[in-house]
Amino acid sequence: MTQIEAARKGIITSEMKEAAVYDNVSPDYLMRMIAEGKAVIPNNVNRKARLVAIGKGLKTKVNASIGTSSDIIDVEAEISKAIAAEEAGADTMMELSVGGDLDSIRKKVLGVTNLSVGSVPLYQAFKEAIEKYHDPNKLTEELLFDVIERQCADGISFMAVHCGINRLTIERLNKQGYRYGGLVSRGGSYMVGWMLKNNKENPLYEKFDKVVEIFRKYDCVLSLGNGLRAGAVHDSLDRAQVQELLINCELANLGQDMGCQMMCEGPGHLPLDDIEANVKLQKRMSADAPFYVLGPLTTDIAAGYDHISAAIGAAEAARYGADLICYVTPAEHLALPNREDVIEGVRAARIAAHVGDMVKLGKKERDMEMSKARRDLRWDDQYNLGLFGEKASEIRSSRSPEEPDTCTMCGSFCALDNVGGYFKGSLEIGPKR
Ligand code: SF4
Repeated sequence: MTQIEAARKGIITSEMKEAAVYDNVSPDYLMRMIAEGKAVIPNNVNRKARLVAIGKGLKTKVNASIGTSSDIIDVEAEISKAIAAEEAGADTMMELSVGGDLDSIRKKVLGVTNLSVGSVPLYQAFKEAIEKYHDPNKLTEELLFDVIERQCADGISFMAVHCGINRLTIERLNKQGYRYGGLVSRGGSYMVGWMLKNNKENPLYEKFDKVVEIFRKYDCVLSLGNGLRAGAVHDSLDRAQVQELLINCELANLGQDMGCQMMCEGPGHLPLDDIEANVKLQKRMSADAPFYVLGPLTTDIAAGYDHISAAIGAAEAARYGADLICYVTPAEHLALPNREDVIEGVRAARIAAHVGDMVKLGKKERDMEMSKARRDLRWDDQYNLGLFGEKASEIRSSRSPEEPDTCTMCGSFCALDNVGGYFKGSLEIGPKR
C-alpha cells in the first residue's frame, strides 16, 4: 500500500511518523495532508532513507542535484559531492548522471547517502537508446519503461518524469512562435525531438496509467517534470510552459486518484514579479499538490553567482507556497559543479528556504533569539542559533578584536557594547512580531 492509499484509509504509517518528527507536526496532520494529495514522502519500499515530507504546512525542503556529465566522469568526485551535500544540510538529493555506467553510479550514490534520492529516468533511457541504436529517437517504449522500473527497483524515491509534454504542448509552442531561451530541459528537449521525429504522442502521457503503476509498486513519488520550463526570464509564464503546467496539474490529480504520491515541478527562470502568479497557478490548478521548483533564477546576467539569483527567487517561491526548492550552484550555466560549488549551493538554498518559511509558516522565533544574542554580545549563542555557526565563528576568530566582547567591525566603537549596560533588562519589552 502506498502512503496516499494508507492515508486515505486513515492509517498512520511508520514513514509518516518518522517524517512528522522532522517537521515537528503531528503524524495525524501529515496523514491528512497526504490523504488530500497536499503532501508526499519520497520513499521506496526497497530502500531505507532518512525520510522527510514535502508539502502544505511543512518546512520548505532543499534538494541538491549531483551527477556526472558526458565530459567529466569522475565517480569519486560525485560521491564526495553527495556526501558534502548531505553534510551541508540538503533534505533530498537527485542523482542526475549522464556520463559513464549509470546503473553502477546510481547504486554507489545510493550507498553513501542517507537522503531520499531522486532521478530523471529520461536521461538514462535516451543514453541507452543512443548506445543501442545510435539514435535517441529510436528509443522504444519498452526500454523507456524498463529504465523507470530499474531505477525504482534500485531504491530511487522520486523521479522527474516528463509526462506533461504532449502534442498539444508542442502545438502551443509552435503557435507561440518564440522562445528567447530555447528549450533548456535535457529530458524535455529529447522527448520533444522524439515526438516530432516519430510523429507520435509522448508514451509517458499516453500510457500514464502504466507509469503510475510502477511508482505505486515501489511507493515512490512521481514528480511531473517541467520539460518546457522557461530558461530565460523573458520566457517566464509563456503559453507553452503554462500549457504543460496545466496538463501536469491534471495528471497530478489523476495519479493521486490512482493511489500514487504526486508532485509537480516548476521553473527555471522567472522575474521576481512572476513568481507569486506561477506558484498560485500551480497550487490552484492542482488542488495544492506539492510544488518543486528549480531556483527559480530571477535574472539571466548573474553567471558565477547564479546561486544568489536563484536563492532570491526560491525565497519568494517558498513564501507563496513552493514546497521543495532545488539548489543552484555558482557553476550554473558554466560548468559541472565541484564539491565547493555544491556546498555553496546548498547553503544559499537553505537561507532561501528559511526566509520563505519566515513568512509562509511564520517561523521567526530563531531570528528573534538571534537578535537578542547579538544585542547582548553572546557570541556562542549566536554561533548556535545561526544556520552556519562554524563559518561565523571561523570568520570572527580569524580577525580577533582587542575588546573581547566585540568584533573588529567597529572595535572600541561597538554600539552594542557602549550602551548595553545602561539598558540591562529593559529592552526585553516590546511588540512580539
Ligand atoms: S563591533 Fe560593531 S559589528 Fe561588531 S558586535 Fe559591536 S556593533 Fe556589532
